[in-house]
Amino acid sequence: MSADAVVLAAGVASGALARQVLPPGAVPPMLHGTGLAVTVKRANTGPRGRHVIRTPNRAGTCGLHVVPLAAEDEQYIGATNVISFDPAPGVHLGLAQTMMRQASEQVDQALAVAYVRRWMIGTRPIPLDCYPLIGPCSVPGLLFATGTYRDGFHSSPAIARHLAAVLLRGTAAERDSPFAHFAPERMPIETMSVPEAVDDTARHAADTMHDQGTRMPWWLDSTPLEEWARERIRTFYESLEDPVALPPEMVDPQFLDPAAIETRSVDLLRQYLRAARTHHGT
Ligand SMILES: Cc1cc2nc3c(=O)[nH]c(=O)nc-3n(C[C@H](O)[C@H](O)[C@H](O)COP(=O)(O)OP(=O)(O)OC[C@H]3O[C@@H](n4cnc5c(N)ncnc54)[C@H](O)[C@@H]3O)c2cc1C
Repeated sequence: MSADAVVLAAGVASGALARQVLPPGAVPPMLHGTGLAVTVKRANTGPRGRHVIRTPNRAGTCGLHVVPLAAEDEQYIGATNVISFDPAPGVHLGLAQTMMRQASEQVDQALAVAYVRRWMIGTRPIPLDCYPLIGPCSVPGLLFATGTYRDGFHSSPAIARHLAAVLLRGTAAERDSPFAHFAPERMPIETMSVPEAVDDTARHAADTMHDQGTRMPWWLDSTPLEEWARERIRTFYESLEDPVALPPEMVDPQFLDPAAIETRSVDLLRQYLRAARTHHGT
């Protein structure tokens, strides 16, 4: 089959497909963000609320959200998120339990007696820097529309409009557009320095520990938790040899355990960073 233009929009599979046509390190690797969401039917215990409620995103945990659905008595509860290089065989039971508990503790007690209608498991396509891969690349006629992580539904109209413009008007439409930042052949986008990323991730790690139930004695704040996490995060970054600053959720919690540094994931990260620095000449 042949075509003048091909749009690579295969979700998390896009990474493996891109590796078949582009040199190693050209495009940030695509990771899997496996998540669970649930729809429930409320029992008759009070009003359901008409608004979306969402808690803040933190590394190691996803902003919990409860969304009213079209059917008067149904709600959507989402979502867990575990990031990995390799596809996960499912979602962790412990995370599913945490999400349900937090929905009834943090949003609405009545959810504890709601009836589960559907369990939904999916995989978010996540480039290493957590920014999407959009637009043309050095293979003539190949365009990317992928790597949208948590934002694929709501950003799809804007992405579709942009790609249609590039397909119809050529790369001039790309140059003047804010989407140019997300050109797929790039080094990972860094929004802070590595020391700042270490501090930021340590703060996220402490928040995650509180979110998961850690309670400090009244005379202590989160500083001991942050310091514990900071040492481990530093060890992880040192193991990368020539690191880039990663978003907190790429590091916490998966690389907080020093034993994780011996894993295939860190090896893949090192290999990618070496190849990317050679390819992009940085
Ligand atoms: C639990 C959960 C909650 C989410 N909540 C939100 C939200 O509230 N808002 C939001 O905006 N986003 C949300 N997302 C993220 C959103 O789902 C993704 O960003 C979006 O689905 C990515 O779209 P995509 O088309 O790139 O990939 P996908 O939706 O994964 O689609 C890729 C398609 O390509 C097909 N494919 C794969 N390989 C090949 C191949 N070789 N040949 C042909 N076809 C192939 C697959 O079968 C699939 O149909 C959520 C994700 C999850 C998992």
